[in-house]
Amino acid sequence: MSWQQRIEQTLHHRQQQGLLRRRLAVSVSPHASLALGEQHFTHFSSNDYLGLSHHPAVIDAWCKGAQKWGTGAGASGHVTGYSPCHQLLEQTLAEWLGFPRAILLSSGFAANQALIFALAESSDTLIADKLMHASLQEAATLSPARYRRFPHNSLDGLARQLGATETKNRLVITEGVFSMDGDQAPLAAISEMCREHQAWLMVDDAHGVGVLGDEGRGSCAQQQIKPDILVVTFGKALGVSGAAILCSNAVAEYLEQSARHLIYSTALPAAQAEAVLTSIDIVRQQPEYRLKLAQNISDFRTLCLQQGIALTDSLTAIQPVIIGDNHRALAVAQSLQSAGYWVQAIRPPTVPVGSARLRITLSAAHSTEQIIGLVEALHHAL
Ligand code: PMP
Repeated sequence: MSWQQRIEQTLHHRQQQGLLRRRLAVSVSPHASLALGEQHFTHFSSNDYLGLSHHPAVIDAWCKGAQKWGTGAGASGHVTGYSPCHQLLEQTLAEWLGFPRAILLSSGFAANQALIFALAESSDTLIADKLMHASLQEAATLSPARYRRFPHNSLDGLARQLGATETKNRLVITEGVFSMDGDQAPLAAISEMCREHQAWLMVDDAHGVGVLGDEGRGSCAQQQIKPDILVVTFGKALGVSGAAILCSNAVAEYLEQSARHLIYSTALPAAQAEAVLTSIDIVRQQPEYRLKLAQNISDFRTLCLQQGIALTDSLTAIQPVIIGDNHRALAVAQSLQSAGYWVQAIRPPTVPVGSARLRITLSAAHSTEQIIGLVEALHHAL
């Protein structure tokens, strides 16, 4: 089959199965407002959990940063792209999250891949939760290491995999908060199991950092564990973009030698690093954002319960409503849109077949009235 035929056939199949993906050019503004052309919505689909992407101080830091450092880093950090501002951000992250070192990458996707590709050799084993992020799944599949998966959040499954593998170097990979389900990994038990089996633990806390734990230190701080490697991203609760790998001195130096996404890619702009530094300041010093988010999550769950809307056990900002069928998930999302609420329908392969869902995300930026309105609209749409 030619490329042209294959492409056309794939698009046709995806269309028929209700799986065609589209990017729409939307304008997001403060207070969870979203405009698509002339139409206006309240959105419940962003990972901007604290509303910091429109915080005046974060915007100001970015603008002043651009004036000071220019708009682009101009090169990889190994050439001229690493500034005192990048260095300060790494030091701040390391101190905040309690690790010897932090290494900045331009996205969470790149950070996960950089780490796995740099670390894993053919004599090693990667053992990962089945629902871990696509960036990790792909890196683990393509890496020369042996790759084993355990059922989502199953301690028995993890124990079986640890018992069944004998390679010297084993890296257990999980997430703090799972991106499509919002549930949390039992990190304390996983960490203990890794210690017993002398395996390293890597936690991707893209959805936990900034939101959970004392001073927003994330899932690991909340569950009082220290993994060997922690990946945090700046595009979610911190409201910017970019990521960092938190690790030991030796791992950081090793990544500086061998992480290709670090060495062969333009560093994130220093202005962006300035914005992230300001976000971290806000997260650490102003717990009211986290408290407002917690209140919004609690209000949403209580209102859904009152309306008989079935939710999962998630207690985080990610509150999926499982629909099952792809077409129905799209129809419910469409009906919410007609009522003025923008909620993304998530379908396979992002989530398992038969578990299409509305991925509702709450933010400190939502007002109580917006949440009441969403639940009423949901009640009518389901
Ligand atoms: N890890 C997890 C768990 C994620 O949900 C995401 C974003 N969807 C990433 C990593 C990738 O982060 P980024 O958007 O910064 O590339």
